[in-house]
Amino acid sequence: MNLKGQARAKAILERMQEAERIPSALLFYGPSGIGKTVAALDMAKGVLCLNSSPWGCGECPSCRHMNHITDLILKEEWDGLSVYSEEGSRKVFLYLMGDHPDFVFVPPHGASIKIDQVRAVREFSYSKPALSHRKVVIFDRADLMTREAANALLKVLEEPPAETHFILVTDTKEALPPTVLSRTHQVEFLPLDRKTFSEILGDAELYELSGGSVTKARALKERPEVLSMVEEFLSLEPVRVYEVAKKLDTMDTRGKDLFFSLLEEKVYEAFREGRIGYDDHEVIMQRILEIREGIPKGLRVDLALYSIYTLMEV
Ligand SMILES: [Zn+2]
Repeated sequence: MNLKGQARAKAILERMQEAERIPSALLFYGPSGIGKTVAALDMAKGVLCLNSSPWGCGECPSCRHMNHITDLILKEEWDGLSVYSEEGSRKVFLYLMGDHPDFVFVPPHGASIKIDQVRAVREFSYSKPALSHRKVVIFDRADLMTREAANALLKVLEEPPAETHFILVTDTKEALPPTVLSRTHQVEFLPLDRKTFSEILGDAELYELSGGSVTKARALKERPEVLSMVEEFLSLEPVRVYEVAKKLDTMDTRGKDLFFSLLEEKVYEAFREGRIGYDDHEVIMQRILEIREGIPKGLRVDLALYSIYTLMEV
């Protein structure tokens, strides 16, 4: 497994694999964009490998299916993987599944992971493995589970299916109910230092701006226009702010979120450098947090941006 800067997590996981004592529920936690999801996918590959190779032999039919699905998941090419259930006229998104019959990946649907998703996973997890000796379910952004979904998952974890392993991945484990946390074996992932960050991306140019997140830095490299928009906005000139708001409104969810997460870093930088005071910093950060939570729910971002403009203007 190629997991840079996470020597401790890697060692813990390797020990479990080698001893063949993998807990039925694992929780990977730590800041976003530092390799937790990649580690979960690699771990799954190892657990499912037909040659019992700790991180997967890469050659057996199970590993070949896992290589394929991992690639698509990380590129977010989800169209061919999305599994839905039909309930009357309602189409409910459940999870992502490729050609491997014993593996599912559960990302949030819209703003949350919903109870329908957990119910579907429960059914999946109590059935017999079809290709491998075991099955794996990954919940990505597990902190976004609704309370009903978390309660349903708790029931499963209380009577863990013998052959299924769950891996929960989260940036904020505090958002999960303590009852769920206590049923998981927790593995901490640490923030990347500048050197490791630079080894992964080729340079450390975006280290501060991305808050050390490789995922965010990659998104920024792909969409440099978002950074220019943030800079335009920070000029606080009404006409330029208006143009940014208009452009932001037409962007996809990921673009919008990237914009506000960059704004967050810029506001923090201004605070560190003494350009804005403590109270203003707190109020603006709180507002940005609310906006980021509102984006997947269809919040009007142009109006939201003006509300920050008003706060910054004074
Ligand atoms: Zn294999």
